[in-house]
Amino acid sequence: MGSTIQAIRGTRDILPEEVGYWQKVEATAREILGKAAYREIRTPIFEQTSLFERGIGEATDIVGKEMYSFKDRGDRSITLRPEGTAGAVRSYIENKLHALGGVQRLWYTGPMFRYERPQAGRQRQFHQIGVEVLGSGDPRADVEVIAIATDLLQSLGLQNLHLDINSVGDREDKQRYRQVLVDYLTPYKEELDPDSQDRLTRNPLRILDSKDQRTIEIAENAPRMWDYLSPESGRHFAQVQQMLTELGISYQLNHRLVRGLDYYTHTAFEIISDNLGAQATVCGGGRYDGLVKELGGPETPAVGWAIGLERLIVLLQQLDSTTPQANLDFYLVSRGTDAEANSLILAQKLRHSGFSVELDLSGSAFSKQFKRADKSGATACLILGDEEAANQTVQLKILATGAQQSLSQTALLATAAELLQRG
Ligand code: ATP
Ligand code: MG
Repeated sequence: MGSTIQAIRGTRDILPEEVGYWQKVEATAREILGKAAYREIRTPIFEQTSLFERGIGEATDIVGKEMYSFKDRGDRSITLRPEGTAGAVRSYIENKLHALGGVQRLWYTGPMFRYERPQAGRQRQFHQIGVEVLGSGDPRADVEVIAIATDLLQSLGLQNLHLDINSVGDREDKQRYRQVLVDYLTPYKEELDPDSQDRLTRNPLRILDSKDQRTIEIAENAPRMWDYLSPESGRHFAQVQQMLTELGISYQLNHRLVRGLDYYTHTAFEIISDNLGAQATVCGGGRYDGLVKELGGPETPAVGWAIGLERLIVLLQQLDSTTPQANLDFYLVSRGTDAEANSLILAQKLRHSGFSVELDLSGSAFSKQFKRADKSGATACLILGDEEAANQTVQLKILATGAQQSLSQTALLATAAELLQRG
């Protein structure tokens, strides 16, 4: 016998017992996104490496050290997608979705890949659900996407979440502020953590979201980005805040919130949970007006977010430790040659009539099959012996009450809905 093979470090199986949580999140998201006229897009899991280098930025953690990149057999550099925005924007440009005119509201879900140190809330294959609104620079679009994220999290019953927002302004505001920040930080250079020292020249804004205690203290007193916005950018930010207030969505300003990706402009936001420990950000997003052009498309303002599904599901499990289960109508047991032959036919007929049926395939003693019926969670157990098969009848037992009756299979098919309700 060969040695057993295990899943790759940083990946996890989602087993049937757990998948109910995932399906609940997906169903809730579909409903909420559908109501706001977002349409699903499915893009490939891998893309040319250059898409992410250009679309996420060389100076980010993702491109700098987290990408799963490899050469394929044709010597092309391929990368497993680390996030969903770059692929969605590539597709938007390639398929000329901009030519349809108006605003494109897209959403996606699926696995993402980042070479990170696996730990609670951090995997190498993880899942996101995300939205992208392409073609609107209106602050209402920023607020719409935030409101949808809030609705989704609320519909799932999650509590102790808070929304942080900031504005990084447009490209020029960012440039201007960058210099202000470098001037402020340079005298502290020796006190910054090594990563931040390195970022002082490459990507100084990222120093603001360092996790190092001393760097945080220094960053806390840094000049505020929102004090350096142009009047126009300042107006955008003010409108976003006003509309959030009008919608009753509470938020706090966080001047250290810059987010990892280079292409963000104006609004940046995160939704953070108090119940998750160190990896507490459930949703991250913002406006990225420069990206579509950067990737070769027409100048197109855009805004979006991504929710980390593993972290969301941890929160759901904290709320309710019983997995949502699909309910089963019938558990069908049978014994004897004729009965077993009949069981498959009856199961199919019931399924075609809209009922769910689990067929016991064991052929073991009825007593053992009954035990499994009890555990199955079915509303009713159907029992077929050779006598029933010969008469085309079946025994029906409502599992909650133990009430049992014999009836013809035709009657069962005709009245199954009522019979189950009576249970
Ligand atoms: P972090 O600061 O936690 O590294 P990030 O800025 O890299 O987050 P984003 O790229 O904004 O994260 O991704 C959005 C969300 O996806 C995160 O808020 C998180 O919920 C989830 N996420 C990101 N990376 C991972 C990972 N390696 N494992 C699990 N979830 C992740
Ligand atoms: Mg990260």
